[in-house]
Amino acid sequence: MRPRIIAGNWKMNGTRIESEALIDSLRPLLNPVDNVHIVVCPPFTALARVSRLIQDTEIELGGQDVFWKDKGAYTGFISPAMLLEVGCSYVIVGHSERRGRFGVPEPDFDAEILKQFGDNDESVNRKLKTALANDLRPICCVGETLTERQAGNTDAIVAAQTQAALLEVTPEQIATVIFAYEPVWAIGTGETCASDEADRVCGVIRQTLAKLYSPEHSEQVVIQYGGSVKPDNARELLAKPNIDGALVGGASLKAADFAAIVAAA
Ligand code: PEP
Repeated sequence: MRPRIIAGNWKMNGTRIESEALIDSLRPLLNPVDNVHIVVCPPFTALARVSRLIQDTEIELGGQDVFWKDKGAYTGFISPAMLLEVGCSYVIVGHSERRGRFGVPEPDFDAEILKQFGDNDESVNRKLKTALANDLRPICCVGETLTERQAGNTDAIVAAQTQAALLEVTPEQIATVIFAYEPVWAIGTGETCASDEADRVCGVIRQTLAKLYSPEHSEQVVIQYGGSVKPDNARELLAKPNIDGALVGGASLKAADFAAIVAAA
C-alpha cells in the first residue's frame, strides 16, 4: 500500500520565534501512525532550528526549493548539500508560486512581482533531477490556472507538466518522486477542488506515469492534492483512491488544523 504523505508548506512565514512556537504546539498533537509521513517545509532561515526541534519526533523536514548547482556564485540560491546538512529529506519543486502562477493576486500584484518567480518546465525538471541525485525526495507540483481550466485544458496542462518534469528520470527513480496536484485557482483562495474532480486529475497524473513508465511503476507513486486543504475537507479528499496525501499551505501554519489533517490521513 502506498504511504500517505502530509506536507506543510509554510511559504514565507515563520521567523525563528514563530517557527519554534508552531513546532512546540504541533508536537503534542501528533500521534505516530504507521505508513503516514508528516513533513514540514519552513523557510530556509528556520530549517536548522526546526530540524533540532523535531529531532525526537515523527516529523520530517523539507525545503521549499533547491538550485541545481552544488556551489558557486549564485546569490540567493540554495544547494542540495545545504538542505541535506540541516536535515532535509524532502524538497518542493515547481510550486505554482515559484512558476509565477498565483491563485490570489494581491492588491499590489503587478508584472514586477511576477518577474521574481522564474521557474518553468525545464528548471523544474533540473531541480527534480538534482533532488533525486542527492537523496532528497522531490514533491513536484503541477496544476492549471483558472483560465486554463475554463478553456478545457486542465488535463493537457497537468499531463504536460508531469511529463516535462520527468525528462531523463529513470524507472528506478520514479517511485521516489512525489507529485502534488495543485490547481492554481485553489491555492490560498479557500476554493477547494471537489474531491471527485481532484481524484480524477490525480488519476490523469497516474495515467501519464503509466504511459511514460508502466502501470506498475505508476501505482507506486505517491500523489498528493493541494489547494485549501483544511480539517473539514481533508477526510473526504484523502479517502479518494488516487489521492495519497496533501500538500498544505495556510492550514499548516495552525498546529491544530495541521494535526487534524494528519489525523484524517
Ligand atoms: C500550497 O501553497 O501548496 C497550498 C496548497 O496552499 P493552501 O493550502 O493555502 O491553498
